[in-house]
Amino acid sequence: MESKINLAREKLKITYPLKDKQIETLKALDLGNDCISILPTGYGKSLIFQMLPWVLMKDEPGIVIVICPLTSIMQDQVMTLKEKGIRTSFVNLQGTVAYSYNSDNEDSDESKPQTVNMEMIKSGDIEILYSHPEAMFTPVLSRILRRKVFQQKVCCIAVDEVHMIEEWGEDFRPKFKQIGELTALFPNAAHLAVTATATPSCIQSLSKILQYINPTIIKVNPDRPNLFLEIKTRLSNLQKFSKYDDIVVPLAQELKTKREKFPLTIVYVESLEALGYFYQFINYELKEEQYIGEAIPENRIFGQFHKDYTSQMKQHILFELRKEEPKLRLVLATVALGMGLDAPAITRIIHCRPPTTLEKYFQEVGRAGRKGQKAEALMYYNNNDLAKNRKGLSDAMVQYCKTKDKCLRLQLLQYFGFNETKFNGPMYECCSYCRQLQ
Ligand SMILES: [Zn+2]
Repeated sequence: MESKINLAREKLKITYPLKDKQIETLKALDLGNDCISILPTGYGKSLIFQMLPWVLMKDEPGIVIVICPLTSIMQDQVMTLKEKGIRTSFVNLQGTVAYSYNSDNEDSDESKPQTVNMEMIKSGDIEILYSHPEAMFTPVLSRILRRKVFQQKVCCIAVDEVHMIEEWGEDFRPKFKQIGELTALFPNAAHLAVTATATPSCIQSLSKILQYINPTIIKVNPDRPNLFLEIKTRLSNLQKFSKYDDIVVPLAQELKTKREKFPLTIVYVESLEALGYFYQFINYELKEEQYIGEAIPENRIFGQFHKDYTSQMKQHILFELRKEEPKLRLVLATVALGMGLDAPAITRIIHCRPPTTLEKYFQEVGRAGRKGQKAEALMYYNNNDLAKNRKGLSDAMVQYCKTKDKCLRLQLLQYFGFNETKFNGPMYECCSYCRQLQ
C-alpha cells in the first residue's frame, strides 16, 4: 500500500506529509471497510478521495466517483486537478453534459469550463468523475454506470459534504436520500463519506441512508481553542429597530475609533431589513470617516453582503476578505456569505440572532481565526429567537443559548460527540461562562 500512496502523492504533486486521519481513512478503505470521515474544514478531506484512483488501483488506476451537492466545489476541484494533469470532469445537474478545464491550451480562457465528449466518459477514460446526486439517476448516467467498464474500474464512490443529505434531503433535494442505491450498484468498490460536522446520531442515520455496513468512523475533534465563545441576550422584538441598538451602537463607535485596527468582523444579521438598519446607522455615524484614503466605494471600511447585492460588489467583498490586511474591516451579511469564502484574517463573528442549528452555528463561527490568531464568536439572542414556532430551530440550539451553568465550548463539542474536550489555555480565554467564574 505504501508504494500506491507514494504513486498517488506523485500524481497529485503532494509535497507535504499526509495527516494521521487521512492515512487512517485510506487504510480502512484499502481493507475494504465502508468509511465515514468527519474532518474539520481545512484538514484536507478531498485529498483522500482524490488519491484513491491510485491507492486502490489494481492493474491500472481506478475510477473514483465523487458525489457532491455544489457545483462551485466541483468546479474548484476539477480546475485544480486538471492543472496537475489528472483526467477529471464534472457532470451537470441533468446528467447530460460533462465539463472540464483546458490546462494545456495557453490561449483558452482557463477560468471557463469546457464541454467534454461524453464518449470519453462512456469508455471509462477518466480518473475522477464529479457529479450531483441527481445526475447519477438520470437515464444517460444510469446507463453509463452499468457499463462493464465502469463496473470493473470504479474503485470508490465518495460522497462529499455528506451532512447535507440530512439538511437538504427531505424536500429540497430528495435524490440525496437515494445515494444508497449507488452503494448497492457497486458492491465491490470502496465507499467513503466525508464531512466537516456530524453528530453521533447524524452519523447513524447517514450510515443507514448510504447503506453502509458496519462503517469505520474516523473523526477529529473540531475544537478551535483560539476562538473565544460568548453569548449575550438582546432586547425583545417588541422594539422594531431599537432592539438592534445594543449591538450596533458599540460596533459603530469601535469602528470609528479603531478604523484600520478594528478586528476584521463579520456580523450575521437575520434579514435584509435588519441589514439595512445596521448599514444606515453605521453610515450615519461614520460619515466621511468611512473611507481610508479617497472617498470611493473600494476604500470603504464597512460593507454588506447578501444575495440581492450586485455580483460585482459581492466579488469585491470576497476579494477584499481574501487579503491579509483588508481595508474593509466590517461586513454586514446574511447567510449568503459563506460558500467560497476564503478569509484568513477574520477575527470576529457576531450573530445578531442564533442560526437554527448548532451545525450551522459551528460552521459559521469556524470562519474566524483561520490562521490560528485569537478570535471571538459572539452570539445574541432574545426569547423570540428561541420561540417554538421558529422554523427549523433545534432543541440543541435553544439549550446552548440558555446555558447558564456549563462551559460553552464543552457543551458545543459534546453535541458533536466529543465528551472529553479540555481547554488548555487560561479560563478567561475559553468562553463567557468560564470567564465569569474567575
Ligand atoms: Zn469555557
